[in-house]
Amino acid sequence: MTTIAFIGLGNMGNPMAANLVKAGHVVHGFDLMPEHLETAKNNGVVVMANAVSAVKDADVVITMLPAGKHVLSVYEDIAPKAKAGAVFIDSSTIDVESARKAHAIATRHGLLSVDAPVSGGTGGAAAGTLTFMAGGDKAAFDKAEPVLKPMAGRIVHCGDAGAGQAAKICNNMILGISMIGVSEAFVLAEKLGLSHQALFDVASTSSGQCWSLTSYCPVPGPVPNSPANRDYQPGFAAALMLKDLKLSQEAAQQAGAATPLGAEATQLYSLFAGQGHGGTDFSGIIKFLRGEAS
Ligand code: NAD
Repeated sequence: MTTIAFIGLGNMGNPMAANLVKAGHVVHGFDLMPEHLETAKNNGVVVMANAVSAVKDADVVITMLPAGKHVLSVYEDIAPKAKAGAVFIDSSTIDVESARKAHAIATRHGLLSVDAPVSGGTGGAAAGTLTFMAGGDKAAFDKAEPVLKPMAGRIVHCGDAGAGQAAKICNNMILGISMIGVSEAFVLAEKLGLSHQALFDVASTSSGQCWSLTSYCPVPGPVPNSPANRDYQPGFAAALMLKDLKLSQEAAQQAGAATPLGAEATQLYSLFAGQGHGGTDFSGIIKFLRGEAS
């Protein structure tokens, strides 16, 4: 049994914290929103008055916050008050530069630190099957790994500080681009009089095969549990895809990497979200490509 502080108990944080409680850990939780604290309390989390009191006795501190600025400001507050030798794990999706700054804050206070963003969404958070992509030195990773297990289907140590965030945004850039590619193929097939099922049957066993097609098909029918079958209710909202694509483009600019398709995907999701579809599943981009979104 470990005492774990969990800061940021939103759509992802609350089910993740609940799985830690189920695994027998004592979880001290804090969030700015009272209704999220209420849910946490019902899940067996010990609700604390603020982030500093949550970390005071914790061996492990997990943050699940919206963006880099939130993580850095919380780290500045809590790192000086944390228990000696504690490990800080940031599972938020944030920019690589802020992730490295967060590591530096933790290290400055003698703490171990891991960036460990996730994929798998709220469904994976509830089921305890998230994929964690971890960055940090071996000593920090070895201490973090057993704590991540009750929330995880897979845990990959990707490299040093920031490597987890780098893996996350590279993966999601592939996802954004591939979803647009698959959607364009269905739109073209419709114009050519080819049925959705026929394109699926061919492409799913041919060189066009990819996750966006076979697990998350953007048209209803071929993959019965994809969001297209429930009018594009998320799943993974277009606004979150846009956030991750923007992070990929910031990183590409800073690193001097050419990502022209990543840039185009960012632009298309920005237009889609700008037309009021930020809350639509990201596979709903097919409606935008058909000219149906606005
Ligand atoms: P959310 O908005 O539901 O939760 C974030 C929580 O952080 C909120 O409850 C908010 O009140 C809290 N918060 C903000 N500032 C705080 C502070 N200073 N102190 C304490 N609490 C604070 O967001 P979410 O969907 O849970 O996502 C969290 C992170 O996980 C994001 O970085 C997101 O990109 C990433 N992520 C989300 C998904 C998903 O499907 N929702 C999937 C993978 C990764």
